[in-house]
Amino acid sequence: MTTAGGRWDAEVAVVGVGAMGSATCLALARRGVSVLGLERRAVGHDRGSSHGQSRLIRKAYYEHPDYVPLLHRAYAGWDALMAATGQALFHRVGLCSVGAEDSELIAGTLRAAAEHGLPLDIVDGSRHQARAPGLVLAQDELFLYEADAGWLAVEACVQAQAALASQLGAEIRAECEVNAWATDGAGFALETSRGRVRARRLVLTEGAWASGTLGRFGRKLKVHRNVLHWFGVDARPASAVDWTAAPCFAVDLADGFFYGFPNIDASGVKVAQHRPGQPVDDPDDVTREPLPDDATAVQRFVGQRLRGLGDAPTRQAVCLYEQSEDSHFIIGRDEALGGVVIGAGFSGHGFKFAPAIGEALADLALDGESALPIGRFAIDSLQVR
Ligand SMILES: Cc1cc2nc3c(=O)[nH]c(=O)nc-3n(C[C@H](O)[C@H](O)[C@H](O)COP(=O)(O)OP(=O)(O)OC[C@H]3O[C@@H](n4cnc5c(N)ncnc54)[C@H](O)[C@@H]3O)c2cc1C
Repeated sequence: MTTAGGRWDAEVAVVGVGAMGSATCLALARRGVSVLGLERRAVGHDRGSSHGQSRLIRKAYYEHPDYVPLLHRAYAGWDALMAATGQALFHRVGLCSVGAEDSELIAGTLRAAAEHGLPLDIVDGSRHQARAPGLVLAQDELFLYEADAGWLAVEACVQAQAALASQLGAEIRAECEVNAWATDGAGFALETSRGRVRARRLVLTEGAWASGTLGRFGRKLKVHRNVLHWFGVDARPASAVDWTAAPCFAVDLADGFFYGFPNIDASGVKVAQHRPGQPVDDPDDVTREPLPDDATAVQRFVGQRLRGLGDAPTRQAVCLYEQSEDSHFIIGRDEALGGVVIGAGFSGHGFKFAPAIGEALADLALDGESALPIGRFAIDSLQVR
């Protein structure tokens, strides 16, 4: 472990120990660098963007083929984390993608798979039922199956990254809010709720709380309230579908993009709509209770497209989308501000990338550049002072 020594409490301070911050702490600790992770709440808390049981992970990335190389790296990172901790974190149960041939989901998935030679099964009508008995298909829809996909146990992943980082020498300081930071060019001084911290380098992974930081660089972050819904499994023999053995699914329809998971821990099948949701002015002032209209679209989708589930949610959870202007990630380093490094704007689809993003942010903090394929996310506007 490289100790910071002298005037520094740590070589690198990481502000926010959620998905990306815990991954960054782990990447730095693995390199033997002294790192201090500062988190205003408990690690794995349910007030940010990294909670609610599960996250989809897939490689044939409909959003853009450029993400695929980074996904290869992220997959290797999740496998390494599981090997190091002995925990089952990534469940490779497969993913069924359904929609019209020209829908964003289907066209984009086919494009990413073709460009990167990823295995993808175009499932024909006779095999639909066997592959996903819980899904109802319309006639003109395509059904794609990606075997090397599935779900990540979201809170456990964050906690495992932070715990392994600690084992490797990182200090993770929970319940410690960073209220301000400044640089003198040689390093950083952070004012926290538990006193002053000094570090030679600084990484900011503040999730939904990154608006202030991004504003300094001329970038905007919009925070949205998004709701997850769990539906009980109907146990009556006539309607019984084995949702425990089901793959994950994503369905792109004219009236919305819906996705869901198997019945993971008997709390039911989690279904959500992928969309920003209601804009939120202050991420600390969000209605956490379900609102009357929260479930309307998802309930309609479940009623029309899923078999063997109850018609009203039995559990709901509110989560925050941290939306960049174009839904692509924001990653960069600003030399004029002491080389501060930022990872933000993961826009409702970043979790699966966390180990790779952590490595990239560690590279940027230590070396000023990264060989990882993060070019598409570089903040040109970090030139804005
Ligand atoms: C409903 C929902 C569904 C999603 N589904 C998927 C999916 O299926 N697949 C996928 O890949 N992604 C998905 N995402 C997106 C993914 O979960 C997020 O992009 C990712 O978790 C963001 O990680 P983060 O580290 O940026 O934020 P967070 O994990 O929220 O971490 C930010 C942390 O910073 C802390 N913090 C902020 N400011 C300070 C400060 N000043 N001092 C100290 N600590 C501070 C916060 O407390 C928080 O813990 C989904 C998101 C939501 C909300």
